[in-house]
Amino acid sequence: MAENQLGGQQVLYLPEGANRIIGRDAQRISIAVAVAVANAVKTTLGPKGLDKMLVSDLGDIVITNDGATILNEMNVEHPIAKIMVDVAKTQDKEVGDGTTTVVILTGELLKGAGELLEQAVHPTTIIKGYKIAASKAVEILDKHSKQIDVKDESVLQKIALVTLGSKNIGTEEEKTMISKLIIKAIKQVMKTDEAGKVDIDTDFIKVEKKAGGNISDTELINGVLIDKEVSHPGMPKHIANAKIALLDAALEIEKTETDARIEITSPDQMQAFLQQEEKILKGMVEKIKNSKANAVFTQKGIDDMAQHYMAKEGILAVRRVKKSDMEKLAKATGAKIATSLDDLSEKDMGFAGLVEERKISGEQMVFVEKCKDPKSVTLFIRGGTQQVVDEEERAVVDVIGALSSAIKDGKYVIGAGAIEMALANGLRIYANEVGSREQLSIQKFADALEAIPKTLAESAGMDTIETIVQLRNKHRTKDGEVMGVDIVNNKVSDMAKLGILEPKKVKEEELITASNAANMILRIDDMISSKSKAPSGPGGGMPPGGEME
Ligand code: ADP
Ligand code: MG
Repeated sequence: MAENQLGGQQVLYLPEGANRIIGRDAQRISIAVAVAVANAVKTTLGPKGLDKMLVSDLGDIVITNDGATILNEMNVEHPIAKIMVDVAKTQDKEVGDGTTTVVILTGELLKGAGELLEQAVHPTTIIKGYKIAASKAVEILDKHSKQIDVKDESVLQKIALVTLGSKNIGTEEEKTMISKLIIKAIKQVMKTDEAGKVDIDTDFIKVEKKAGGNISDTELINGVLIDKEVSHPGMPKHIANAKIALLDAALEIEKTETDARIEITSPDQMQAFLQQEEKILKGMVEKIKNSKANAVFTQKGIDDMAQHYMAKEGILAVRRVKKSDMEKLAKATGAKIATSLDDLSEKDMGFAGLVEERKISGEQMVFVEKCKDPKSVTLFIRGGTQQVVDEEERAVVDVIGALSSAIKDGKYVIGAGAIEMALANGLRIYANEVGSREQLSIQKFADALEAIPKTLAESAGMDTIETIVQLRNKHRTKDGEVMGVDIVNNKVSDMAKLGILEPKKVKEEELITASNAANMILRIDDMISSKSKAPSGPGGGMPPGGEME
């Protein structure tokens, strides 16, 4: 494609078959696609939201309620739809929750923008207004947020339960149990510096899953669960008070890369050669024995002969352990990873109250548990089928993300649409004060926020217009900010009392990500595709909306 200036007139040469859509048409299409994507996930919002079943080309089935997962699995092709997928991914990566909400918000912001465009409001004005509204909303959000006290288990529990709540996993008791395990896990890996600043490295909460058993069998392991087996049948399968050696070295005789050849001309020579090998391997095992280790984990391989000698010495060994697991083992047991057998020393050994191989649903796994104050733990997820453990894992990862970002940020807000109503109310008051051309877009921003309580009400089968009117009225009164959509009793209620609490950080990220994405899409007024096929309009590249719902 080449661009030229001809007497001030811009000329664009497009390759043959290229397609170009400009101006209002480009904007109309972008908005329609974004709204279609948002509509596809809308029905999954909240605890009464429905699940989606996604079937891949290969026939793999995913049943989920998780916005990011749905969009990821949908294999969307239209570039605008891809941006929407990225919106969910960004939200997921930053805070681990609020993915459906952020997509709905983006869609609604664009829908509002579309209405303004029809009224001949210039896109630049809309974008400016949305920017002003977003930063004002973040400010109002802060005013409505409350402090989290890490010692207050009940608040943490409520935040965890709300994140878990909308996922279709287990009973209320099971959800409560899982959220307790997650809180425990987070507290175990949490670090607080002298200034009181909290740091949580969620990488050190390993989430391992195995289909089988019940959700209530899900457990927190004070250490690391390795999805491997003990490498030799003659080795012990159970070692109490284990002394653990971590190795990034092979217990094998290094085979050189070059084409070295050994000429053996007699049986004696062969014998000598094998004896030599045996001696080297024996020497390796000797070094481990001298370090007093009785459980060895190595990232590399272990020769059969070395395994045999280790078994004879009563040493348990696991080979080809993933690097990430090695780091977790180091954090959990206090062992130092040795890069050579010569570096092994007793003081670098780690400790675990128990190292044990257990058979879980027909497969061997090695539990390194009962560690002393481990800085790395494992949540071991169980459940009836693969689909159940997969969804449970997604939910657990969401809760770990949401709760740890809430603890780090130190603030929470009231969910169930209450915070969105409070923000919308605040923005409308502000829009009247602004009084400039941006006023209209600030009002549209407020309308977009109301889509969240509206969708929650809809999922519960409530009258949406009636609900929004009631909520608006309540939010205009003093102390009305706690009022949200009570989907259990199908009415407007005090959601603080009902314990629907959410991390402020999740809401903040939703506001920022959604407005950035909407503005980015609004700025596009020229779509050039070099494929011979034109962008296929609303829902292009996605399964037809109707099929998804
Ligand atoms: P997201 O992917 O955006 O987190 P969810 O499906 O998890 O979407 O739904 C989150 C929304 O559901 C939030 O607005 C939250 O406040 C609301 N919510 C969660 N639990 C309840 C509840 N028990 N009653 C009403 N609303 C709830
Ligand atoms: Mg959620």
